[in-house]
Amino acid sequence: MTSQEIRQQFLDFFKSKEHKIVQSAPVVPFDDPTLLFTNAGMNQFKDVFLGHGSREYKRAADTQKCIRVSGKHNDLEEVGHDTYHHTFFEMLGNWSFGDYYKAEAIEWAWELLTEVWKLPKERLWATVYKDDDEAFELWKTKTDINPKHILKFGEKDNFWEMGETGPCGPCSEIHINVSDDFDNPSFVNAGVPECIEIWNLVFIQYNRDETGKLHELPAKHVDTGMGFERVCAVMQKKSSNYDTDVFTPLINEVSKLSNVKYGKEEDRIPMRVIADHIRALTFAIADGAVPGNDGRGYVLRRILRRAARYGRKLHLKDPFLYKLVDVLAKTMGDVFPEIKEKKDYVKKVIKAEEESFNATLDRGIELFDNVVKKLQKQNIKVIPGEDVFKLYDTFGFPVDLTNVMAREIGLAIDEDGFNKLMNEQKERSRNVHIMPGTGQLKITGYAPEIFVSKSGEKTEFTGYNELKTKAKVTSNKSDSDFEYVILDKSPFYVEAGGQIDDTGELVINNNVLPVVDVLKVDNKTVHIVANDENKIIKPGIELIAKVDEKRRWDIMRNHSATHFLHRALRMVLGTHVQQAGSYVGPDRLRFDFSHYSKLSAEEIREIETIVNEQLRRNLPMIHHRDTPFEEAKKMGAIMFFGDKYGDKVNVVQFGDFTMEFCGGTHVKNSSEIGLFKIISEASIASGVRRIEAVTGAGVEKYIHSQLELVKQSEHRVEELLDVKKKLEKEIAELRVKEKLEQLDHILSIHSEEKGVFIHKGRVHADSMDELKSFGDELRSKIKSGVGVLIAQVDDKVGIVAIVSDDLIKQKNLSAGKIVGELAKLVGGGGGGRPHLATAGGKDVKKIPATLSKVENIVSSFI
Ligand code: ATP
Ligand code: MG
Repeated sequence: MTSQEIRQQFLDFFKSKEHKIVQSAPVVPFDDPTLLFTNAGMNQFKDVFLGHGSREYKRAADTQKCIRVSGKHNDLEEVGHDTYHHTFFEMLGNWSFGDYYKAEAIEWAWELLTEVWKLPKERLWATVYKDDDEAFELWKTKTDINPKHILKFGEKDNFWEMGETGPCGPCSEIHINVSDDFDNPSFVNAGVPECIEIWNLVFIQYNRDETGKLHELPAKHVDTGMGFERVCAVMQKKSSNYDTDVFTPLINEVSKLSNVKYGKEEDRIPMRVIADHIRALTFAIADGAVPGNDGRGYVLRRILRRAARYGRKLHLKDPFLYKLVDVLAKTMGDVFPEIKEKKDYVKKVIKAEEESFNATLDRGIELFDNVVKKLQKQNIKVIPGEDVFKLYDTFGFPVDLTNVMAREIGLAIDEDGFNKLMNEQKERSRNVHIMPGTGQLKITGYAPEIFVSKSGEKTEFTGYNELKTKAKVTSNKSDSDFEYVILDKSPFYVEAGGQIDDTGELVINNNVLPVVDVLKVDNKTVHIVANDENKIIKPGIELIAKVDEKRRWDIMRNHSATHFLHRALRMVLGTHVQQAGSYVGPDRLRFDFSHYSKLSAEEIREIETIVNEQLRRNLPMIHHRDTPFEEAKKMGAIMFFGDKYGDKVNVVQFGDFTMEFCGGTHVKNSSEIGLFKIISEASIASGVRRIEAVTGAGVEKYIHSQLELVKQSEHRVEELLDVKKKLEKEIAELRVKEKLEQLDHILSIHSEEKGVFIHKGRVHADSMDELKSFGDELRSKIKSGVGVLIAQVDDKVGIVAIVSDDLIKQKNLSAGKIVGELAKLVGGGGGGRPHLATAGGKDVKKIPATLSKVENIVSSFI
C-alpha cells in the first residue's frame, strides 16, 4: 500500500465516523507566540480546548504538518541516528470537542489498526496512565487486545503536554513490537527501534498555567496523534521510516547527487539527516519562516547547517540541498500544494543560505581541526569555551554543531565556558550604546534596579495622549552622578518595539532638570536626571514631566510610516515579508524584513507611491487599546513574536490600510506624516533586507541634501568643462608646434641655383590647408628664396611652393608656375599666385623623385 493510500484511508475512516476532515494548519504558527513550530495536530484547536473558541463541528480529523526541533518536543539530536524520529513529520489525528471520549477513541483506533489495516494483534501493546483505571478497563472490554498487553506507565510516558503551559491530560499509547520477541513487555517504552509508539490517544482535561498548576477544563476532549511515517513503515513492512516511499525518492536523489550508495551505516546517517532536514526546511520556508539570527529563523539555520555539514560526509561541497526541493514537491505537492507553489522561492532561500554557510564552513573546519590537533597533543578532551565561542561568533557554527563535531572524535565542549562568553558579549552590547540620533551615551543596567521595589503602583503611561504631564514623585534615589526618579504618571516612552526613548525634562518649581535617560523596571518608569544643583526631590512632591515635543512628533511620524511601509511591502513583494526588526528614531526609520532578492528601482518606486498615496488619504488612526489577544487576532491585526498569548494588546489601525499589534506612539492622522521617502535598501543577512526611510521634515532635509549634491556636481561639471577646454587648446597648440618643427630642418639647409636660395623637403600634413599654412610659415621665415614642401595628404600628393617678394620683382619668379611644373611629375596639376601656390597629384610614389627635380625646375624659370 502506498503512503498516499494509507493517508487517505485514515481520513476516510474518520469521515465514516462523522468527522469533519480539516486542513493542516501551517507548520509555522504565526498566531501563537508561545510556539516556534507547530508540534502536534492539536495546536490549531488549542483555543477550543481552553474554551476561548469554538468550531462548527464537534469531531475533526486531518494530517498535520509538525516540526519538533525546539521547546518541550525536540527530536533534532535523534534524527538520522534512529529510524523513526523526524524533525518534520505528518501527524494523523482525530478529535472530539466535548463530544465522544475515551471509549470511542480506543475502540476506533483499534478498529482502524486491526480491522481496516489488519495489523497483527499479537504484536500490539497499549499503555495507559497509572491512575487511569477507566482507560485500562476500556481496553479490556472494548477491544480484543491481549489483556497482558495493557501496561501502566507514569507521567513521563503517559501524561501528554504540548508545552510548559496549555491543554494536557493523561494519554493512552499504542505500540507495535516487530521483533521475534513480541510478547515481551520490556520492549515497550524502551526506546528501541523494534518496538515503537505509533499512536497516542490523549484525553485532554486540564490546562496547565504559568505557575505549573493544573485546572480542570470546562469540557473533556479527545486529541489523538499518529506518526504517519511510522505507520507507513509498519504497513509496508520496513524496519525504517526511511525505507518507505515517503523517503526513498529523496534518499535516491541524495545518492545520485553524491554518487554514494545507501548501504553502509556511516553513509546512511548523513543521507537520512539530509532527507529529513530538507523536508523541515521546505515546509517551514513555504509557510513563511526564513533562516535567520534568532528565534525560529535561527532554528532553521541550524537545521540547514546540520544538513549541509552532513552533506560534506558524502563529499557534497557545493550547494545541493536546494536541488532536493524539486523531488519533494513532486512526491508531496499534491497533498500539500503550498510546496509546489512556493517551490522556486524555497529553492532560492535554501541556496542562498547554503552559499553563505559554505563560505564560512571551510574556514571554520580548518580552525576546528587546528584546535583539535593542539588539544590531542596535550591529551586534553574538552574543547575550551573560547574556541567554541570563536567558531560561533566568527564562523557561524551553532554550538550544537560544534558539539556534534566534537563528539564524533571523542571530545566534549566546555559549554559553561561558552555560555559565559556569550553572556559577556550580550552584556557588552547592552550596557553602553550611543542613543541613535542624540549622540548621548546611554547608560543602563545599574543602580536603579536596586531601589525599585517590586511592589507599589506602576507608572501610568500618559504619552499616548499628551506630551506634558503633571505627576507625583513616588520614589527616588541619587548617586554621585544622577538622580533616579519614579513618577506615578509619565509621558516618557521607554524604548520598545524599535521605537527609541523619549528625551525631555522634569520641571520642579521652575527648575528644569534634563532627563538623560529613561528605563523601565517592573512596570515603573525610572527617569534619570542630572540634578547638578541638588534640587530637592522626594516622594510626594509634584512636578511636570515634559517630553521633547518636536523630537517625539518626528518619532511618531516615522513609527506610523513603518506600518504603512510594512503593508506596502507585503502588497508589492508578497506576504512572505515578515518584520525582522526595526528602529524608529526622530531622524529616520529602519525596517528589516525577510525577502530574498534585492528590490528593483521599480519596486522601491511602487512602494513609495503606495505609501504616499495612502498617507494623503487622511486616514485616521484608530487605537484599540488593551484588546484581548484573541479578539485582536480575529480583527485581522498583523502580529509578531513577543506578544503573549492571553495578553491584552494594543492594536494600531490606520483606516482600511493597516492594522498591527503595536505598543508604540503614533500620529492621529496619516496626513500628519507628510511625505515618505526610501533612502536606502540593502541586504543585512542572507534573506533579510533593510530599508531606511525618512518622513516629514526628514524628507525636506533629504531633498535639500540631494539638491546640494546636484548643485555641487553642476559646479564640478562646469569646472571640468573649463579644464577640458584649456587642455584641448593646449593640445592643439602642441600639435601645431610639433608640426612646425618639421620646417626647422628645411630652413636650416638650402641649395642655390643662379644665386637663388632653394629650401625644400617632405613634411607631414593632415590637409591641404595645413600644408598651405606651412608654406605661409616658411615664407615668413625666408628673407629671400624659393621654397617647396611636399606631403602625402590622405593618399594623394600635395605640393606648396613659395617665392619671396624680392625674387618676384627682380627675377620674375612665380610660385604658380613652379608648382605647375612639379605637379606634372606626380600626375596632377595646379597653380596660383606668384608668392604662394598649391597643387595636387595622384602619384604618391613619385614624391622623392619630384623633390629631386625642384632645383632643375626653379632654374629653368630664372
Ligand atoms: P516518542 O516517544 O516516540 O518520541 P512522543 O511521545 O513524543 O513519541 P507524541 O507527542 O505522543 O509522541 O506524538 C504522537 C505521535 O506522533 C507519536 O505516537 C508518534 O507516532 C509520532 N511522532 C512523535 N514524534 C515524532 C517524530 N519526531 N517523528 C516522527 N513521528 C513522531
Ligand atoms: Mg517524543
